[in-house]
Amino acid sequence: MAKGAGFTMRKAKNSIFAVLGGLFCLNILAWIAVYDLSQPGFLEVNFFDVGQGDAIFIVTPQKHQILIDGGPDSVVLEKLAKEMPFWDRTIDLIILTHPHADHLKGLIDVLERYRVENILWTGVSYESQLYQEWQRIIEKEEAEIYIAQAGQKIISSKVILEILHPFENLEEKEVRNLDNTSVSAKIVFKENSFLFTGDAHQEVELALVNEFQERLESNVLKVGHHGSKTSTAEEFIKKVSPEIAVISVGKDNRFDHPHQEVLEVLEKYGIKILRTDLDSDIKIISDGINYKIK
Ligand SMILES: [Zn+2]
Repeated sequence: MAKGAGFTMRKAKNSIFAVLGGLFCLNILAWIAVYDLSQPGFLEVNFFDVGQGDAIFIVTPQKHQILIDGGPDSVVLEKLAKEMPFWDRTIDLIILTHPHADHLKGLIDVLERYRVENILWTGVSYESQLYQEWQRIIEKEEAEIYIAQAGQKIISSKVILEILHPFENLEEKEVRNLDNTSVSAKIVFKENSFLFTGDAHQEVELALVNEFQERLESNVLKVGHHGSKTSTAEEFIKKVSPEIAVISVGKDNRFDHPHQEVLEVLEKYGIKILRTDLDSDIKIISDGINYKIK
C-alpha cells in the first residue's frame, strides 16, 4: 500500500523527480547535463482522444514523461506508442486523479505494459473491482508511491508541476463525491502554464479560487469533468483566465457532455475551445515563452 504523506522517501535508483524539492540536486542536475546539450527545450502536453475519459501525456524538455489518467480502455497504449520512442518501456510518473473507470482503466493497461517509476494518487476509499485491481498492481510495481496533497511539487529542470488539490490527505478516507477528490495540478514552464482539475465540480473550483486566487491563472485549462455543467464555475474561469480550454470528451457520449452552459461560459470570455471529440488528439507545445497547438 501507499506510504503516508510524510514523504520520508527512499531514494530510488534513477529517480529523476524531486517531490517537495528535497532530493533533486544530484539526480536532476545529472539529467540537465546530459540533455541540455541536445534538447531544444520544449514542453509537450498531449490531450489524447480516448473517447469519454481523460488521458493527458506530458513530456518535459528533459524528456521526463508524465501521464495524468489513462482513459476508459487500452486505447491509451496506442496513443503512447505514437508519442514514445519504440525502445522506451518506462514512464516516469503516472497520476490517477480519481478512481472512476474513465480515468483509471487505461492506467492499469499502462502499468501492465510499462515500467512506472513514480505513482501519485489520493488513496481514497472506493469500492470497485477495477480499483482493487489498481491497488493490487501498484503494490507489486516497484514504484515510488505518493499520496497527493496540495503543496507538493514535482520538478523537472525548468518545469514545475504543483499539486493544488486535494487540500488534505485522503488516504483510505470515505467520501460522498469521488469527483471532488480529483487531484488538481498546475504545470508551469517559465511563462506558460497548464491547469488540470480532473472531474472536480464547481465547489472544488471555488475552493481553489479561494485558496490560490491569481496563482490559478493559466494559458491552458483542461476543462473539469468532460464539460459537464457540474464544473466550470464562472468565478473559476475568471481567475484562471485561460486562452485555451481543452475538453476531453467522447463523441456522442451518453452524458450529453459538453453541456451548452459550459460552452457559453467559455465563449463569453473569448476562450478558444478545443475538444477531443471534434479535434481528436490535441498537442500543445511550449518553449516556455510561446506555445502552439498541433
Ligand atoms: Zn471522468
